[in-house]
Amino acid sequence: MKILVVNAGSSSLKYQLIDMNGEKVLAKGLCERIGIDGKISHKTADGRTYAEQIPMPDHTAAFKCVEKALISGEAKAIDSLADISAVGHRIVQGGATFSKSVLVDEQVISEIERLADLAPLHNLAHVQGIRACRECFGTEVPEVVVFDTSFHATMPPTSYLYALPYEYYEKYKIRRYGFHGTSHRYVTGHYFKITGAPVEGSRLITCHLGNGASITAVKDGKCYDTSMGLTPLDGFMMGTRTGTLDPSIITYIMEKENPTAKELSDLCNKKSGMLGISGVSSDNRDIEAAAAAGNARAKLALAMQRYQIAKFIGQYMAALDGADTIIFTGGIGENSDNLRRVVCGHFGYVGLKLDDELNKKMIRGAEGVISTPDSAIKVMVIPTNEELMIARDTKEIVEKL
Ligand code: AMP
Repeated sequence: MKILVVNAGSSSLKYQLIDMNGEKVLAKGLCERIGIDGKISHKTADGRTYAEQIPMPDHTAAFKCVEKALISGEAKAIDSLADISAVGHRIVQGGATFSKSVLVDEQVISEIERLADLAPLHNLAHVQGIRACRECFGTEVPEVVVFDTSFHATMPPTSYLYALPYEYYEKYKIRRYGFHGTSHRYVTGHYFKITGAPVEGSRLITCHLGNGASITAVKDGKCYDTSMGLTPLDGFMMGTRTGTLDPSIITYIMEKENPTAKELSDLCNKKSGMLGISGVSSDNRDIEAAAAAGNARAKLALAMQRYQIAKFIGQYMAALDGADTIIFTGGIGENSDNLRRVVCGHFGYVGLKLDDELNKKMIRGAEGVISTPDSAIKVMVIPTNEELMIARDTKEIVEKL
């Protein structure tokens, strides 16, 4: 069974074609600048590539380009679209409605559209992606939607409520939803698979550290609390996002500079975090290089990032009555041995001991334990694979049809 995994953004469309027989990626690619001009970059598993600038006025045009890349030319991966059994879509916001992945029908599409209120940039783009996919493939090809929020649906109200008057939750559904759930779910499942550890009674802290970043407390294999909130802005500082702020900062800036809501949102989402503090870049590699060259604000940004991550891990140790294992994933979590060393250094007092050699080795896709055998808390690096998780959910649902 071959499954196409799609992640549609407002001006981009990422895709992977996965053969579920062996869970191998056959081809992957990216359509960019949809609605502006248009560019596709496509690569097969054996290294053949295709890239072209083609006008992509909308997502339907982008899907046509994906179709062309997959079935024709030098870098084709399959003979015809009929080889694709199903499509799995990544959806950011599933609200309180979707606690698991579901088959797409008109009602599901309308509900994703309705939830766009809570994630306007993402959900509307996802719906455009689904509709364009249906135009291209026809409705007879089953489509499944997999939500970033659904892993977090098990949080208790003590974790998901904000201390606003309760009617704001009732009227507007303002609450913590959490994001990156597909990644947290993947590394959690993979942890149990490779360690054979019992799910019941387990206490994991999963750290998805990428350009966007979140940490989740996982109790008995289920999400108990997570750092992202109503939107992916909550939590700790990220590439360009603030993480949690004192809300009075917002009203104070409003009084000082009279910004529009959009300007405020851009300030917190696009100009802050590692970029805002370092003034160098939002990319951790650039910041680490600048810090190594002596840049004081780059050093400060890195120190703040590591400190804030350690504080979240500490909170979740309290939430879980301790922790068995801390898992690092995401571009930074999988590659920055320096960040892992500094963060884990905060937990020597509870008996966490990192193996420095193993830690240095566990980069670029390597998976395994980086703590010493006598460490009170195990620390692991597990590369995430959200696309595979989406493909697995899609397969499971489609096989039952
Ligand atoms: P992601 O959003 O998961 O793709 O992660 C992107 C982040 O991972 C960027 O900030 C990168 O700088 C960071 N990253 C990737 N490789 C490394 C590395 N070798 N060392 C430090 N950070 C890295």
